Amino acid sequence: MDEQSARTMQTLLCEMAKKMYHSGLVAGTWGNLSARIDADYMVVTPSGMNYDTLDPKDMVIMNMHDYAYLGSRKPSIEYFMHAELLLKNPGANAVVHTHSTYALMMASARKPIPPICDDQVQILGGDIRVAEYSMPGTIEMAKTVAEAMRGRAGALIPNHGAVTIGETLEKALLASVILEKTAQVYIGTLSLGGAVQLDHKDVESMHDFFMNKYGQR
Ligand SMILES: [Zn+2]
Repeated sequence: MDEQSARTMQTLLCEMAKKMYHSGLVAGTWGNLSARIDADYMVVTPSGMNYDTLDPKDMVIMNMHDYAYLGSRKPSIEYFMHAELLLKNPGANAVVHTHSTYALMMASARKPIPPICDDQVQILGGDIRVAEYSMPGTIEMAKTVAEAMRGRAGALIPNHGAVTIGETLEKALLASVILEKTAQVYIGTLSLGGAVQLDHKDVESMHDFFMNKYGQR
């Protein structure tokens, strides 16, 4: 592992953890993030620490294959899920996990979010599935969540919360914000008779446009 890359990722992750804390997506210390350092190592937020006082060196460097970690801080208990999602999604370099309110409503009802908003399908890739239930912090949960994430940038974790991935920490955090907003919109539309779902072909083309053609070169 390259020391300099590890330090850089610790600094970026610490900044993003504070940004997430102030985004309103998480309450207290509930929520965690990770970022890939290289093919073998990731950096993950520590377990149960106050986000406001976090320092880059508190970010835990962990081997994604055998879960051995460096330093004295304990990693987030969800490290299996972070490692699994980074290993299964080579195009993603960051994972954001929250217990945000509207996503948690859908996750607790164990109902998927159909494709209803443009930004949802562009960024998250389509409907948002609910993983099979398993206990938090287990390797089983890591596997069921990775399965629900197939071809998507976000998934719901039953009775627990949501998780998103992205090419960068910024993109993974944006995906979490979009997922939470989509859940809120979906729940809101239920009082209006329900949202009209986007057509499958439009979902594919909007996602493709966003991934390949949108923005500045
Ligand atoms: Zn959690």
